[in-house]
Amino acid sequence: MRKDILPGREPKLIGDKIISVCEPMLEGNEAKYVADCIRSTWISSAGSYVTRFEEKFSAACGTRYAVACSSGTAALHLALAAIEIGKEDEVIIPAFTMISTALAVTYTGARAILVDAEARTWNMDCDLIEEKMTKKTKAIMPVHTYGNPAIMDRILEIARKHKVCVIEDAAEAHGAEYKGKKVGGIGDIGCFSFYANKIITTGEGGILVTNNEQVAKTSRKLRDMYFSDERHFYHRRIGFNYRMTNLQAAVGLAQTERFDEFVKTRRENAMLYASLLKSIVGLSLMPETPSAKSVYWMYSILVEDDFPLTRDQLRKQLADNGIETRSFFVPMHLQPVYLNIYKGEKYPVAEELCRKGMYLPSASGLTKEEIAYVVDTIKDCAG
Ligand SMILES: *Cc1c(COP(=O)(O)O)cnc(C)c1O
Repeated sequence: MRKDILPGREPKLIGDKIISVCEPMLEGNEAKYVADCIRSTWISSAGSYVTRFEEKFSAACGTRYAVACSSGTAALHLALAAIEIGKEDEVIIPAFTMISTALAVTYTGARAILVDAEARTWNMDCDLIEEKMTKKTKAIMPVHTYGNPAIMDRILEIARKHKVCVIEDAAEAHGAEYKGKKVGGIGDIGCFSFYANKIITTGEGGILVTNNEQVAKTSRKLRDMYFSDERHFYHRRIGFNYRMTNLQAAVGLAQTERFDEFVKTRRENAMLYASLLKSIVGLSLMPETPSAKSVYWMYSILVEDDFPLTRDQLRKQLADNGIETRSFFVPMHLQPVYLNIYKGEKYPVAEELCRKGMYLPSASGLTKEEIAYVVDTIKDCAG
């Protein structure tokens, strides 16, 4: 992972160590399985680790099918392409998300329609979805922000009523649950990222999970340039090269073997952060959706106006003490690339989260001492 903190800053180190926002944990079977790929010369997407990883990951999500691919963004695009979203269509997404959610919609030629966040969960506000739906709406894409599940009951109810699909952007929420069901397997399609800072990683990579056989079949073909079954080098649709290599899947399989352990430590770290931070005036702590089990991908806080420092001042002080943090997402309507599309639209909760939010070091391998050090440093900043 990147070791830099803020551009142009010289962080003071604790010993020789910077506490980074996130680092992958690769001390299971990762090296062994990758070595196996190399020794066997099966390094492309045709190797058996891809299937083994897909089977293990879909089982972990409680879905029948999984299609591994080159990134989380690719998984989202595959999902939309598999259900034939295209020009003239509209897809509902949260205003407060990472840009991939919107990009995937843009790639299809459809229009992403934004819904503001809800202060209670930081996820898409379900009360505001229906007013954004039109005859053109084909899908709703909730995001389980920073590992905290969206209110899936409400979203499914709205989707069923209007006969549109639900594609979960679960890129930040591996292993999270809503009413006892694993996210990704609750809507029609679920998409995950395996970027190096996600709870499960393959370096770069993604996966689509579903119980719908047709969606699985179509996205499998779309992932691989839509080669036809009837004849070699014959194509009936525009496909993509979104394949995952055997090398990546080898890492993913080893990671998935430790899935429960990663989720458990993520939650334990979050509970420790919450208990230590709760007495500090001027900080709002990360919410957990009722009836849900968040995986706290990134332990996040809001720096309120009554905290002695601004969010950016606090981040700077932490950086000076060797602690890496990140500010929150910039909402989609404020992205330079989308400014003219969403001109005049206002999403006040998303904007407030963007202004006040930051996340703290959150790796699964974080020690209790490191968490205590981060909190003590914040306390010092609070005076
Ligand atoms: C990380 C992420 C993605 C995309 O993942 P990549 O693998 O980097 O393409 C999509 N959506 C959200 C919400 C994410 O956080």
